[in-house]
Formats: sequence, C-alpha cells, structure tokens
Amino acid sequence: MAQAQLTVDLDAIRANWRALDALSDCETGAVVKANSYGLGADRVAPMLAREGVRRFFTATVEEGAAVRKALGDGPEINVFGGHMAGDAGLIKAAGLTPMLNSIDQMLRHVEALPGHPFGIQLDSGMNRLGMEAEEWAALRELAMKQKPRLIMSHLACADEPNHGMNAHQLRNFREMTDGLDAPRSLSATGGILLGKNYHFDVTRPGIGLYGAMPFRDARRVVSLHIPVIQTREVKTGESVGYGNNFVARSPMKVATISAGYADGLQRALAPKTYLWAGETRCKLLGRISMDLITVDVTAVDTLPDTLELLGPHQSVDQLANHIDTIGYEILTSLGGRYARVYAGA
Ligand SMILES: *Cc1c(COP(=O)(O)O)cnc(C)c1O
Repeated sequence: MAQAQLTVDLDAIRANWRALDALSDCETGAVVKANSYGLGADRVAPMLAREGVRRFFTATVEEGAAVRKALGDGPEINVFGGHMAGDAGLIKAAGLTPMLNSIDQMLRHVEALPGHPFGIQLDSGMNRLGMEAEEWAALRELAMKQKPRLIMSHLACADEPNHGMNAHQLRNFREMTDGLDAPRSLSATGGILLGKNYHFDVTRPGIGLYGAMPFRDARRVVSLHIPVIQTREVKTGESVGYGNNFVARSPMKVATISAGYADGLQRALAPKTYLWAGETRCKLLGRISMDLITVDVTAVDTLPDTLELLGPHQSVDQLANHIDTIGYEILTSLGGRYARVYAGA
C-alpha cells in the first residue's frame, strides 16, 4: 500500500484539553473548525463531548452541521461566521448558535428565526470579525432582551504575552460587556496562557488541543509515516528528481516515498526537512514532487517500510519553522489522501 498514514492520538488531545481546562476555573470549550484543524472532527468532537465539553466552535454553518451530525443533540455548536444570507435553514435544522457579527446579521437572524438562540461577537481591536463598540452600543439593549448564549471577542496578539495589545483588548472587551447578564469569552489557546484575567466564563482552545504552539507543554498528537515505494543506488555525478536539482557527490542510496505537495508537503520544505528511518536522520533530496519525495538513506542499514516525517523526532512546529509559517498551517494543509488512523479513544 502506497498510502501514507497520519496517526491522530485521541488520548493526547484529551490530555491537552484537560491540561488547558485545569488552567482556568471557567468552562472550557473546544474549537473544531476546519475539520478539527485537519485531524477529523467526526472523531475528535464526540471524544471531547464524552470528556464533558458542552460548547464547540466552528467557522461556518456547514462545518457546524457536520459537527452536529457527529455529536447528536446536546452540546452547543457556536458558529464564528455568524448568520449569513441563506444560512437560516441549516442553522435551524442542525440547532446551531450563530455568533452575530453585525447589525445586519442580527436583523437577518431575528427576522428569519425569531426566538432561535444566538451569540454576539464583538470587535475589541483586531478589526476582523464582530460588532464595533458603536454598533454594539446601539444594539445591546435589544440584543440583551433576547438573552444571548455567549458574548465573545478574539485576541490578535495572545501568542505574545508581553504585547500591549492584550491589555488593550481586555480593557475594550470589559468596557463593552461589564455588567451584562450573559456568559463571556475572550480567550483561545494563547489567551488561556495569559492568566485568569483573560478567562471570563468560557475559553475556546483550538491549536493547544492539537498539540502545537503556543501551548508549549502540549502532548504530541500527530505522526506521519510515508511508505517507501522504491530504493536505488545513485552514482557520483548522477542527479535526482525534477530540474536535476540534486547531484550526488559520492555513491548513495536513495529512497522514493509516497507523499508530496498534493498532500500538503509544500515544495518550500525541501531544503531544510529531514525524515527518520527509526533513529536515523535522512535528508530530503532534490525537489518535492506532487506525489513523491526522494530521501538519502545511505546511512540506513535496514530500511523500514515507512519513513517518519512527523512524530517524536520532528513536530509540526519544527516543520513550520522551516518555511516561516505556523503549526496551524502545517496541520490544516495535511491533505485528504492520508489514511487517518486514530489511536486511543
Ligand atoms: C480559531 C479560533 C479560535 C481557536 O484559536 P487557537 O489559537 O487555535 O486556540 C478561537 N476563537 C476564534 C474566534 C478563532 O477564530
């Protein structure tokens, strides 16, 4: 079989949720947008619900409906994107709670689905989603009469604890919400780590559950093993791969493995990335192809059936550092061709 295997450790996700939950005295939700950061919301969300999670968060109502299917009735599913034109049917059928981001969304919601639960998203300074202070001032009396399920905002710089923006947004959020009779939420993973002032009533961790920065103490969640399709001897002066990009300076043994940029392993990773054959570090050679990668396995005595790209030797954050990105982007890029195998439960 040439299909690479992405192993997702559900026990590690559970342990990460517990560890983040233990950092606050309030309710800890779970963000399962983008199919649980690419790892499979149909497996992750039900496991977390059994663990006691009562609020899940998705980006869109379509994602919310998929999570509802996996969860069944009960837990609240909050949708960050709010209530867009055409969403009412799905919001009602799947029992979703849109986070209303503007006066337009508020009017749309109460007109289409009077009495249906909603939450409010406020902009405390990030200027991405949510009502601005003036909008909220105009609307809040009407909105509060209908008992919003949650009032939330989002921090722009929570992964930098000393950034002045954190305190600035905290102040703005307090000014907009102090004294209101509704649960409040400000913090994702980074905000949880900023301390109790930032926790309010509900936290919304995502990346920390999935084992990446800024949650330094997270347990590793993913490993990726890629089958070796073929090996060959390469003579001094011969080249490997597209563009003759790599030329052998001495005789070597090269393995061709079955994953490439169509699986989220961007070409830019090639110069700095290694794979592991057991405990032996093996350099990636030449260019990454759509479906294949070539690897120097000269130093390996007994070649295993698969090489490890993600696992105990290399984390998603290390891979991200090679190409100036973040663990979030590595995780959500891992493509649909991998066999996703779940460990634990
Ligand atoms: C993605 C997202 C989260 C989760 O953020 P992490 O950094 O992954 O913990 C929380 N809230 C909002 C509004 C988000 O968009």
